[in-house]
Amino acid sequence: MRRKGHLIIVSGPSGVGKGTVCAEIMRQRPSLKLSISATTRPKRPHELSGESYFFYSMEEFQDLIDQNKLIEFAKVHGNFYGTPRDYVMDNLEKGEDVILEIDVQGAMQVKENLDEGVFIFLLPPRVKDLADRLHNRGTEGEEEIALRLKNSEGELANLHNYDYAVVNDEVEKCAETILHIIDAENQRIDASLMKKYREEYHD
Ligand code: 5GP
Repeated sequence: MRRKGHLIIVSGPSGVGKGTVCAEIMRQRPSLKLSISATTRPKRPHELSGESYFFYSMEEFQDLIDQNKLIEFAKVHGNFYGTPRDYVMDNLEKGEDVILEIDVQGAMQVKENLDEGVFIFLLPPRVKDLADRLHNRGTEGEEEIALRLKNSEGELANLHNYDYAVVNDEVEKCAETILHIIDAENQRIDASLMKKYREEYHD
């Protein structure tokens, strides 16, 4: 019997490096499943639908909501983002660990809607680093950066709703720490483990 997989939520303010950290986690452990989100955000140059995101029109995104195809969705910095339900649920059922890289509003919805998940909050070494990262990334204009920084203060206020906080001072180390958390979660004693051993005693 396989134990159900864990749902790992990697979240935190814009500019903290969630995307880079998740890419590094996948590089270090490609067997993990990274959920690809749906979004109405315009595609950036070099982005491909189905790779970084599934890109949808607002009408198509609304259809996904109406058909209950998203576990959570949120308007983040002016665009909609959501987590496709089938991919996540199918993999969890198969016993795979699934990673969601989502914003704080979405993470709180997962907590409420699914009543499961390991919630990891990524922190910058200093708040100032968020601004630096957003500027260096160069994918947002000044106005957009100001909006994201303003939102990050409210996001930090949600820290207490998470299980773990990991400082992203060095991407490789940060990814390793998250993998240690996942490994520890997989050693937790839960009902399915108890059931397995009880059944073995009565075989
Ligand atoms: P970006 O457009 O820069 O790739 O992402 C913007 C923000 O949207 C990031 O904070 C990212 O974590 C968040 N995001 C990406 N996918 C999802 C999702 O499926 N749900 C939610 N709630 N947020 C997401």
